[in-house]
Amino acid sequence: MKSRWSDDEARQFCDRYAPRWGEPLALRVYTSRLIGADPDLVMHGGGNTSVKIVKENLLGDRVEALCVKGSGWDLDSIEPQGLPALDLSWLRRLRKLESLSDEEMVNQLRTRLFDASAPNPSVETLLHAFLPHVFIDHTHADAILALTNQPDGAGLIQKALGDRVVVVPYVMPGFRLAKLAAEMFEGKPDAEGMVLLKHGLFTFAPDARTSYERTIHYVDRAEAFLRERLRGRGPSAPAGDVAEARSRMAQVGPILRGLLATPSGNADQPHRRVILEHRVTPEVLALIAAPQCASLAERGPLTPDHVIRTKARHLFIGQPALQDPEALRSQLATAIAGYRTRYDAYFAEQVRAKGVTRSKLDPDPRVLLIPGVGIVCAGKTRKDAAIAADIAEHTLRIKATAEAIGRYEPLDDSELFDMEYWSLEQAKLGKEAEKPLARQVALVTGAAGAIGVATCVELAKAGAHVVLTDVDENGLERARGKVAQAAGKSSCAAVPMDVTDEESVSRAFDEACRAFGGVDIVVANAGIAHVSPLSEMDARQFQKVLDVNLGGYFLTLRAAARAMRSQGTGGNVVINASKNVFAPGADFGAYSASKAAGHQLGKVAAIELAPLGIRVNMINADAVFAEGDTPSGLWREIGPDRARSRGIPPAKLQEFYRERNLLHAEVTGTHVGRAVVFFASNQTPTTGATLPVDGGIAAAFPR
Ligand code: ZN
Repeated sequence: MKSRWSDDEARQFCDRYAPRWGEPLALRVYTSRLIGADPDLVMHGGGNTSVKIVKENLLGDRVEALCVKGSGWDLDSIEPQGLPALDLSWLRRLRKLESLSDEEMVNQLRTRLFDASAPNPSVETLLHAFLPHVFIDHTHADAILALTNQPDGAGLIQKALGDRVVVVPYVMPGFRLAKLAAEMFEGKPDAEGMVLLKHGLFTFAPDARTSYERTIHYVDRAEAFLRERLRGRGPSAPAGDVAEARSRMAQVGPILRGLLATPSGNADQPHRRVILEHRVTPEVLALIAAPQCASLAERGPLTPDHVIRTKARHLFIGQPALQDPEALRSQLATAIAGYRTRYDAYFAEQVRAKGVTRSKLDPDPRVLLIPGVGIVCAGKTRKDAAIAADIAEHTLRIKATAEAIGRYEPLDDSELFDMEYWSLEQAKLGKEAEKPLARQVALVTGAAGAIGVATCVELAKAGAHVVLTDVDENGLERARGKVAQAAGKSSCAAVPMDVTDEESVSRAFDEACRAFGGVDIVVANAGIAHVSPLSEMDARQFQKVLDVNLGGYFLTLRAAARAMRSQGTGGNVVINASKNVFAPGADFGAYSASKAAGHQLGKVAAIELAPLGIRVNMINADAVFAEGDTPSGLWREIGPDRARSRGIPPAKLQEFYRERNLLHAEVTGTHVGRAVVFFASNQTPTTGATLPVDGGIAAAFPR
């Protein structure tokens, strides 16, 4: 491992932050980010850093302050605000106490903040406060953990890192650990760092660069020691093909996602689903194929705070029946049921042994290791699943390394339970109320168009993860950008798809299953139109409209039914039909016929798919001319012809449509999107129904 320090970058941070925050904090932000940028040092909110400064208070007194990472901040993107300042002399005085409960510790920290609106300081704040050094860097470095998570972790650490580090036995973070670490340091005041067994590394120094580079130095020594011990051992032959593993995920994803869904207790929305994240590389496949993987999966995490992201045990699926979906389903069902039973037993055993009461967390696995497929992680959002997957990838590698040089031995169940059920850890996960379409995946066809993009945005705002599909790849990318802006990059994916091409449709559904694990909401929206009187109509044009609109509905519906059946958790299909279904117009035969047929197909699907809990509903919208800066491609093309058919100038067309409805309303893509969200959120027990979104047109009332 190499130092990433650069004098130029350090100066840039000072130029940016020192005028307001002072140079020590500016450099603290810089080296915190250097640490955060390396996933071999810390991941996802792990680790913390601090600096001791002198601050002037409102009365002009100069007081010593500790600036330490606040919870909710990641080191790789930290700002000075992410390092709240606390009254250091008070924190030091707390060391005199015999004991201090976690709740009172959190309270003491909050009452000693300089800024009342600052985030909660790290649970390791007192450890930073009780050590005398100006700069302190704390990481959960992979190489250090490979050495500490061993039966003789302390001995290995001293051998690897030398005698300028203090080795502290495992104690849960908090007051007791802070006192112990300070005492042990005082026994060795020339120490440059401290290794907390089965937890991580602290380094310290009077200046930012030295403290950071001591972290790098000791991690580098640990890496060199491991290399020496491994002497080329480790995952050997590549075990399978990544492309094949990815294609298997399209089959495995929906089965797994269905099995991981749990009853919600809400009759209208009966399933609590998960989003899946798939990870596969040649290394991952080799590590999972290794004979010791099953045993390693049973052993706990590298560092205790991973337990809230990945649970203590990963679920290894031995010899998955990848050629036989039904056998695979029952194999996975048995494995997941077994995992849940063992989790329940672990919980019961721990509360009994400790004599405590806790409300049990869900017993579901977060990380599955499937030979020939890779790592599959589950979370309530793709972001959560991806965090678990990042941790799982490192865990797989480091466990194998540790096992190759000795025996991987993490914390025991009792310690892990304390961490998993520690209120201060659970607080990191946040408990926001979920949005109506949270944990669901929506696939929208024709997503680049005016109605398509607005529908995707409305679905994403309602909490769904969205797969945008369209034949227009440039438009698709623009639309994806809009959804990402509204709801975050991790909640959407764009997949090119031609609704008239069977293979393209099935590829896009497979891609959705790979990206998120399955599909729950499908919006059949892609469509084209053609204006011509029947007597003059070109037969190929008629067929083309039928192929895109009716054929597209059919292929989309069929793929939706198959994916949803595989999950077994129901779903929603919404067909964007047309006001034309009930109120056709002249010169619009191909379009009207295709929409009416599609509408009828939706009713048949509603009858056929109801036993699977899949609802199919139709939206009959009147003309949508644009959505924000996305013009309707359809109306740009047919607008002038429609105007001619109606005997009005093209410029008056939009006004014509507005004035003809009872509410004189302009219909927008957002209106259609809201109607989709209404159906998709199962607010009423409705299937086979038609909702007009047309401002009220008596001739088009459903009947
Ligand atoms: Zn830590």
